Amino acid sequence: MKISFYFDEKSPQEIDLPVKTLNSKQRLKHSFKVFGYFLGAAIVSVFIPILHFILVPTLIILAFIFSIKKFKQIGSLDISQFKCPNCEHFFNDKTIPIHASNTTLSVYCFNCRKNILFVINETSLNAATTTN
Ligand SMILES: [Zn+2]
Repeated sequence: MKISFYFDEKSPQEIDLPVKTLNSKQRLKHSFKVFGYFLGAAIVSVFIPILHFILVPTLIILAFIFSIKKFKQIGSLDISQFKCPNCEHFFNDKTIPIHASNTTLSVYCFNCRKNILFVINETSLNAATTTN
């Protein structure tokens, strides 16, 4: 999918990067998985004396927060084949989550310490979603 990116306040450039979109069934599945991890940790922490007064409610609250956040993720952008325009450094094995509320993704290059801004066109993302 064509994605424009901004770097060093220059005009946007276009690049073709793989975008993986998730349908609502997959999003629900991932969301329940995250909820299950936190709920499991909460159940285990019941057996820790004194600390369970803090851990159990905190983990249950976090289970809701992170599962809702995971459900809002509509896809992911694979930038493993993307080279930093400044230092030519590869972002090895990296995917960035795409959320419905925010289709502008910021990536920090640790090699040259600069930000790269990816802007995903919502209409093409919706088109990609319906084909899956
Ligand atoms: Zn760089």
